[in-house]
This record gives sequence, structure tokens and C-alpha cells, in this order.
Amino acid sequence: MESEVMKIIRIDGHVHVDGDFTNIEKLEKSLELLFYEMDELNIQKALIMPNNFQQSNEMIIELCKKYSDKLFGFCWAEFDGGLPQNHLVKFRYCVEKLGFKGLKIHPRYHGVSIKDKRVEELVELAGEYNVPVYFDCLPSKGRVPIQETIPLLIDELAMRYPSTNIVIAHMGGHHILDSYAAVKNNDNIYLELSNIIIRYSGSSVIKDIEFVIRELASEKRIIFGSDFPTYSIKETYSLYNEMFSRLKMKNRDIEFIMGGTINSLIE
Ligand SMILES: [Zn+2]
Repeated sequence: MESEVMKIIRIDGHVHVDGDFTNIEKLEKSLELLFYEMDELNIQKALIMPNNFQQSNEMIIELCKKYSDKLFGFCWAEFDGGLPQNHLVKFRYCVEKLGFKGLKIHPRYHGVSIKDKRVEELVELAGEYNVPVYFDCLPSKGRVPIQETIPLLIDELAMRYPSTNIVIAHMGGHHILDSYAAVKNNDNIYLELSNIIIRYSGSSVIKDIEFVIRELASEKRIIFGSDFPTYSIKETYSLYNEMFSRLKMKNRDIEFIMGGTINSLIE
């Protein structure tokens, strides 16, 4: 029987900070605001990832060590830098030596298609380490055509590597119903909620988000995230909280969205 007292901690499953080690002032200000918002909402932990090419994996892990009570990190893939095996070497280093809990692949920023062989190799290796892979699947400005970043490509990957847990960040943007279909087709796909509830405000996407949350809530496949500092955690949380109330969701299902699901993937 499930214990009544088992308390699930609250986690923001997608944050960044501004600044880097060449701009400490900006970095510290950003961290201060992050922790302030987390405290206010009783969010105990946040999953932090590099935001741009100025932020190295080393910098992110240093923050995670300094604030280990509040932060844990996912490294981001490194595709450049000489050797053909560089992406695997760097990822191994990030997991084994730096202690990252997962991998983020950002096809738009990295300029790499989800169909790229190196992406496939990383997904396979993540499965061997049993660490999850986040994919940014937000259709927006980037270095590859949107068609190379869509959730239906994640469906193919997940089928090929069923022992790797894959998270579609931003729920695939306006491709949200394709993301939903990919979840239905694969036990190893999860959806992360950041960014879209504000970005697509007033559009039909909001209805789709509500539909998918309602349909998947009890399956424990949805992860709360804010994409701080692009959007405030507080504003994001209050919009989702209203949605959870409208849907009359069970507390237990909300607890999994608010931390239980991502926690189960990194344990
Ligand atoms: Zn992000």
C-alpha cells in the first residue's frame, strides 16, 4: 500500500540563469531571483541547463555543487570540437566526472537535426547510463529547418531506443498533439510544460495543453517547468494552477506533474 506520508518534493523541471563566469554580477542577480521565486512557490529544487554557448557545462555543474540543496543539472550536448567521437566523449565526461543527471539536446541552437547520427548515438548512450534526454522541440528561430526538430522525430528515436527516457521540452510547441501521439506510442516519452502556456496565450494551443494534461495526468508523463528567466516561475505556475483547478485534478496527479515525475527519472 502506498504510504500516505510520502511527500513529493516540488521541482521546476526547466530553468536557466542569465550571465556567465565573465559576468558574475548578472549571474548572481539571476540566481537570486530564481531562488526568490522558488521559495515563494515552495519549489525545493530546479533542473538547470546551459542557456547559450557562453555557459559551459563546467559552469553549470559548479552552480549545482555550490547550491546542491536547490539545483541539479543536465549537461548540454557538445557536437563541435574536432574528433568525430567528441559528442560521446564529452557526454561521458559530463556524466561520469562532473555528475550531471541528464542530457539536453537543443537542435535549433546546436544546428543539428534530430535525425543526425550523433543524436542517435547520444540517445543510445543515455539509455546505457539510465539518464534522461531533454529535447528542445520549440518551433522557433534556429539553425535547422523546423521539420528537423519536430516531435514525430522523437517518436522514431524513442521506438528505436526504448530503454532511454526522452523528454519533449515545451511539449513540442504548437505540435503539442503530435507530442501527445508520441507519448501514446512510447512508454519512454515525457512532456515538459515550460514556456508554451505564456508564449501561445490566446491561441488554440492553450486548449491543446489542457486536453493533453487531462488525458495524461494519471499516466505520470508530464513535468512542470518554467523556462526561467525567459518566463517567471510564478506566472507560469499560476496559469497551470488555474488549469489544474478547472480540470478538477487529483492532488496526487498534480504532485507528479510538480516534481514526482522528473524525480522518478533521475533517481
Ligand atoms: Zn530551455
